[in-house]
Amino acid sequence: MAELFYDDDADLSIIQSKKVAVIGYGSQGHAHSLNLRDSGVDVTVGLREGSASREKAENQGLKVATVADAVREADVVVILAPDQVQRIVYRDEIEPNLKSDAALVFGHGFNIRFGYIKPAEGHDVLMVAPKGPGHLVRREYVDGRGVPVIVAVEQDASGNAWDLALSYAKAIGGLRAAGIKTTFTEETETDLFGEQAVLCGGVSQLIQYGFETLTEAGYQPEVAYFEVLHELKLIVDLIFEGGITKQRWSVSDTAEYGDYVSGPRVITPDVKANMGAVLADIQSGAFAQRFIADQDAGAPEFQALRAKGQNHPIEPVGRELRKLFAWVKPSDSDYTEGSA
Ligand code: NAD
Ligand code: MG
Ligand code: MG
Ligand code: MG
Ligand code: MG
Repeated sequence: MAELFYDDDADLSIIQSKKVAVIGYGSQGHAHSLNLRDSGVDVTVGLREGSASREKAENQGLKVATVADAVREADVVVILAPDQVQRIVYRDEIEPNLKSDAALVFGHGFNIRFGYIKPAEGHDVLMVAPKGPGHLVRREYVDGRGVPVIVAVEQDASGNAWDLALSYAKAIGGLRAAGIKTTFTEETETDLFGEQAVLCGGVSQLIQYGFETLTEAGYQPEVAYFEVLHELKLIVDLIFEGGITKQRWSVSDTAEYGDYVSGPRVITPDVKANMGAVLADIQSGAFAQRFIADQDAGAPEFQALRAKGQNHPIEPVGRELRKLFAWVKPSDSDYTEGSA
């Protein structure tokens, strides 16, 4: 059984006695900064000169500084810039200004696991990674709940790195749900695998193939959209609440029988073998290298794949249909339909 932590296992006063710099004010950065501030922690947001996020952070009443200035003052530096730029920000702006005993906090293990950032010996190196999108991390906190976090210590220079990690996890609301103990290696490899094979890659491809199969057979695109995309949320909510068993309990016996006989025809053992190959590329660092090489070249492959995805025929059908549903409220004010 994994080791779990809750609010009673952590001492909030540890992080309340530190100066914290949060680098980046995106999905995770805004949520960590605001939750820390509301938990009584001294937070400064570190941003690039001319960052579009500066005004957003200042409007929330947060202190904002350049990355260098925020880091110079900080006992704890939280690195929540995009994974592909973290090593550059670390080399140019964080490392030269870092107190020799400052702790480093990550929201994902990518740069440590694959060796893109190699902190000096004097630093505690921690991870507090919410298992949910940043906007939910903020919303749950405001509602008095929290998103579960996984917590790891890669380097314990002070001897107190675990106490600091749990205190931080409590301050962002994570221990109201639960903290799960892991390692940077386990978090990084399982996080990349989950998003690639199942949550993002697997589900997106499954929806697109389902839509193509129905529309190529002559069914109306709007009907196909409802059957393979819209209803997915209702199914996932049931799985989230009570596992696959609750989903099968709720659907008709017809649907449940179809699940048993046709699921394994669609998702064949080849798919599991392909998942194994994806995992092997994650473990070897091949995926990380391909991602970083493309990003360093200006992200041509990434941009082309993004454009191809946005042009899949299910996207315009969905955009038109969702305009008709006043009850589908966007949960995220940063995202505008058609502009991503
Ligand atoms: P994001 O893309 O939403 O935001 C990153 C922010 O970094 C930007 O808003 C900007 O303010 C800042 N930034 C960009 N370039 C910068 C630079 N050169 N110098 C300083 N700041 C810069 O990023 P995100 O999705 O919040 O991801 C941050 C970290 O959290 C990553 O390690 C990611 O893997 C991890 N994480 C994200 C989520 C999520 O919900 N998105 C969930 C779990 C973990
Ligand atoms: Mg994104
Ligand atoms: Mg991830
Ligand atoms: Mg149906
Ligand atoms: Mg049933």
